[in-house]
Amino acid sequence: MIKKYKTLIPEPKSKFVRVKCPDCGNEQVIFDHATFPVRCLVCGRILAKPTGGKAKIYGKIVKVYG
Ligand SMILES: [Zn+2]
Repeated sequence: MIKKYKTLIPEPKSKFVRVKCPDCGNEQVIFDHATFPVRCLVCGRILAKPTGGKAKIYGKIVKVYG
């Protein structure tokens, strides 16, 4: 049986963004519709929180992909 994973298909408005951590300056690429909290890989600060739609992003967006 083949299962279909509809959730893997990105929404048209969703994209990846590069965010600069306000605490340590680390730049990290995150999904702007993240469904889970995203933490800075260097210092552990929360960089994005899910809101049910577009994630709330903490920190400066330095680049948008797509
Ligand atoms: Zn950081």
